[in-house]
Amino acid sequence: MRSNLVGVYPGSFDPITTGHIDIISKAIEVVDELVVAVAKEVAEKHPIFSAQERVEMIENDLALIRESLPRHKKITAVAFDGLLVDFVRSCHSTLIIRGLRAVSDFEYEFQLAAMNSKIASDLQTIFLPATEKSQFTASRIVKELVRLGGDVSDFVSPYTLTKLKEHYRR
Ligand code: ADP
Repeated sequence: MRSNLVGVYPGSFDPITTGHIDIISKAIEVVDELVVAVAKEVAEKHPIFSAQERVEMIENDLALIRESLPRHKKITAVAFDGLLVDFVRSCHSTLIIRGLRAVSDFEYEFQLAAMNSKIASDLQTIFLPATEKSQFTASRIVKELVRLGGDVSDFVSPYTLTKLKEHYRR
């Protein structure tokens, strides 16, 4: 029997959007186990939510996906710090999964994958394309819209929306 194929989908998820959910849904078609890995500290980004809050929002959104998963498939969400490649190995995985939106994502993602493969040649990165409707969905823009009072209900779950509103009311 083939051993369990584990994929790690890392990111800041500040907060999780329907774009991330799209990638999670596609990724779990390919792997047996998916670890959604929330980076505790993100260079040059200043998350508005703590890693624990980001994991909670992901867990909330995963509940729906988990309902329709085959019994042998599993998705978890965990926070990590330190080098991604070390974390991936600690999950008994050799597979990093990233999402690609427009061309603008490409250069950064390609560079990141190249650096990771330089420091850990046993790991592979695979890219999954954003679905058409998620091409322009980004956590950064969602936050800006909420801050300015815009409607983002198409881009985040009701739970995440409540958290966002709470944050900007503070
Ligand atoms: P990071 O700070 O690591 O870029 P993000 O949470 O912004 O973390 O994104 C995590 C991954 O998900 C990245 O590969 C990013 O390109 C991808 N991603 C983010 N939003 C979308 C989307 N709308 N559609 C597809 N992929 C996305």
